[in-house]
Amino acid sequence: MKAMNKGILIVLSGPSGCGKDTVLSQLIDSNEDIKVSVSMTTRKPRGLEVDGKDYYFVTREYFEKKIAEGSMLEYAEYNGNYYGTPKAPVDEMLNSGINVVLEIEVQGAAKIRQLYPDAVTVFLLPPSLATLEKRLRERGTEDEETLSHRLYIGEQEILRASEFDYYVINDKIRDALTDFETIIKAEKLKITRNKNIINEVINNV
Ligand code: 5GP
Repeated sequence: MKAMNKGILIVLSGPSGCGKDTVLSQLIDSNEDIKVSVSMTTRKPRGLEVDGKDYYFVTREYFEKKIAEGSMLEYAEYNGNYYGTPKAPVDEMLNSGINVVLEIEVQGAAKIRQLYPDAVTVFLLPPSLATLEKRLRERGTEDEETLSHRLYIGEQEILRASEFDYYVINDKIRDALTDFETIIKAEKLKITRNKNIINEVINNV
């Protein structure tokens, strides 16, 4: 019988408006072994976002209590709000062999790199800054001040893209999805993640 591998921890970062949510929703639709961790945030829900599905929307007091309890795997402040990954569900999924994606910003990604050196980190890039701005405006979920602040943070984040293992350019969503799936496929085939494979082949004469 094939021994079960631990799941792979995958980090997806990229500037606000570059299409991380769209890529991820399509990824999980076609890959049953991949789940996206639901983050906790103190920002208010936007558009049709659902509590418990898109985020756990909480108060600052509650978030700070969770930090103090040590329940957060990582957290960061982004544009005046806390965002963080609850630790227990991620560990449970990884231990059951599920591959878990964290859709987080660059400070959180740096923390995960320290905690999980075998995590795979991917940076989603827009084809250009002009396209990024156009997409954020078309989304229409932010007022002008928030939008320009998000663009500014996005530029700073792009400057840190070289800290990541892989990049994917989100020009056409189909291509971005294929690239992302290819990265995950290659990672699944790494010898270091499949220590038992050689013994299994030898014992299966
Ligand atoms: P948004 O408000 O657009 O949903 O998210 C703002 C930024 O916070 C995005 O870059 C998103 O990836 C990031 N983010 C979402 N959840 C988390 C999290 O749990 N931890 C960290 N560090 N960043 C997060």
